Amino acid sequence: VYKERENIFSLNKLAARFYNYLLTDTNMGKEALEYLNKRGFNEEDIKRFHLGYAADEWQLLLNFLKKKDFSIHLIKKAGLISEGNNNSHYDKFRNRVMFPIFNNRGEVIAFGGRILDSEDNYGPKYLNSPETQIFSKKKNLYGLHLAKDRIRKENSCIIMEGYTDVIQAHKNGFKNSIASLGTAFTEEQAKLIKRYAENAYIAYDADTAGNKATLRGLDILNNTGINVKVIELEEGSDPDQLLKNEGSDVFNELIENAVNLIDFKINMIVKDKNLSEPGIRKKVLRSIVELLSGVEDNLEREIYLERAAAKTNFKADILAEEVEKEFKENK
Ligand code: ATP
Ligand code: MN
Ligand code: MN
Ligand code: MN
Repeated sequence: VYKERENIFSLNKLAARFYNYLLTDTNMGKEALEYLNKRGFNEEDIKRFHLGYAADEWQLLLNFLKKKDFSIHLIKKAGLISEGNNNSHYDKFRNRVMFPIFNNRGEVIAFGGRILDSEDNYGPKYLNSPETQIFSKKKNLYGLHLAKDRIRKENSCIIMEGYTDVIQAHKNGFKNSIASLGTAFTEEQAKLIKRYAENAYIAYDADTAGNKATLRGLDILNNTGINVKVIELEEGSDPDQLLKNEGSDVFNELIENAVNLIDFKINMIVKDKNLSEPGIRKKVLRSIVELLSGVEDNLEREIYLERAAAKTNFKADILAEEVEKEFKENK
């Protein structure tokens, strides 16, 4: 079994090189290369993240790996082929831009594949390798092998959702950026970060899924003992789009204005609520009371109370009364 793990590492490394070759040096990869260029990613970015292309063929990778003496059994264990009818096999990733996922030692442990933006494509936008002997999604962070030294040096990291966010961030000098591989941030990932830094910023997509994931991530990181703040992007945006459209100065400003856990939670409670509707107003205030009554430190509680009162245009002393009542009950 130990040998098998080693072989899967070798196989992945070779597959990543093959995908990269198809992207950069063949006609088949032309459209994918143009696609990446159009998104603002150049040769240097492709090299830095070892991006590739899985051709629009059913058995190109399979045949290549077979020729290199890898068994079907092993290629399947690596998650790179699927089983069809009559014991036949075909490439799992076809006609997709390939993002190798590395462990913190820089070894390829899995892949993400993105569909090209043309109308005759089908399937999910992103397809990931399955869990394998060497890949556990919840224990890894995309880009960590490149970011870890910077993270340690700055004692801080920026956590994003996706591959393209991280690639764009590194391109723009934010080299302590990593991605949680989708939106489900885990305790294992928080512990991994803790090995390198005490501070983290969450810069998830400013959409419903991203906000929900931010709330989750905030609590997980906070419970792991990491000081965490939220970088708030313009609604509907993500770090890739923001950096591409507005540049690094604007992103730097957002980092400076990042909000802490309680402020972000207050913002989420108030967000999109019609506060002139009495029923809604009461519910919002009740949620705020519940949130603030969980703040242990007296001064801190008072500070957030003021801000919450300002945001809801509500009398601070009445809010304070309710919070203190709840606070004592919780004791
Ligand atoms: P792009 O900018 O290329 O459209 P994105 O990174 O902004 O992509 P999102 O839809 O915001 O895409 O998703 C964020 C991340 O979540 C992706 O980069 C990917 O890592 C992960 N993800 C999204 N959809 C899937 C999926 N269907 N399966 C696995 N992972 C996914
Ligand atoms: Mn999103
Ligand atoms: Mn996104
Ligand atoms: Mn995006």
